[in-house]
Amino acid sequence: MYIIFLGPPGSGKGTHAQRVCDAMGIPRLSTGDMLREQIKQATPLGLEAKADIDAGRLVPDSLVIRMLRERLAQPDCANGCIFDGFPRTEAQAEELDTIVGIDVVVNLDISDEAIAERMKGRRVCPACNASYHTERLGDKTDCAACGTELILRKDDAPETVLARLAVYHAQTQPLIAYYTKKGLLRSVSTDGEVEAVAARVREALR
Ligand code: ADP
Repeated sequence: MYIIFLGPPGSGKGTHAQRVCDAMGIPRLSTGDMLREQIKQATPLGLEAKADIDAGRLVPDSLVIRMLRERLAQPDCANGCIFDGFPRTEAQAEELDTIVGIDVVVNLDISDEAIAERMKGRRVCPACNASYHTERLGDKTDCAACGTELILRKDDAPETVLARLAVYHAQTQPLIAYYTKKGLLRSVSTDGEVEAVAARVREALR
């Protein structure tokens, strides 16, 4: 199965994509995680992407597509994978259609107000990329999965979140129509607790 998780920043794509990956035994391809890794390693690609990411803009299609093609060519993607944060533009979606056949697109539905609220409390693990919310962390400051000290992502600053939302509406939201036309879109409401949303995601993938 090749599955896309679509939705604005902060909609829970990463969290729900990872759960489905664990259940299905297929890898999660997060272009955001891949880009942050390239930055950490100070590769030429990472250096090229850094300014755009920090400002909340998309990095150029050509760069993301090159990176994704390389990852998809690895043997663990042969039987399927979950795309998290890709495609984000119509050009990326068209390119992806020439590489694999997409089976289903899960669209996580959330209001801009709810996003702003979630991003304010988001903390992430710089080592394993797990994501948390301060409301559920209590006084814990380290990652439950690997013990690393959690951080606030630079691009989760409120001004940058606004920029990312504007980018989402202008460049990524049109993909809802793109995949609806192909009959692949299943929209899921993100209202309520994580478990309730996870159950709806499972239902959408049946
Ligand atoms: P979120 O889903 O919370 O916005 P991501 O980790 O998916 O965060 O992405 C972080 C940043 O990485 C984006 O704001 C963008 O700059 C860059 N990025 C990630 N995926 C893509 C993509 N497919 N195309 C262009 N830029 C991307």
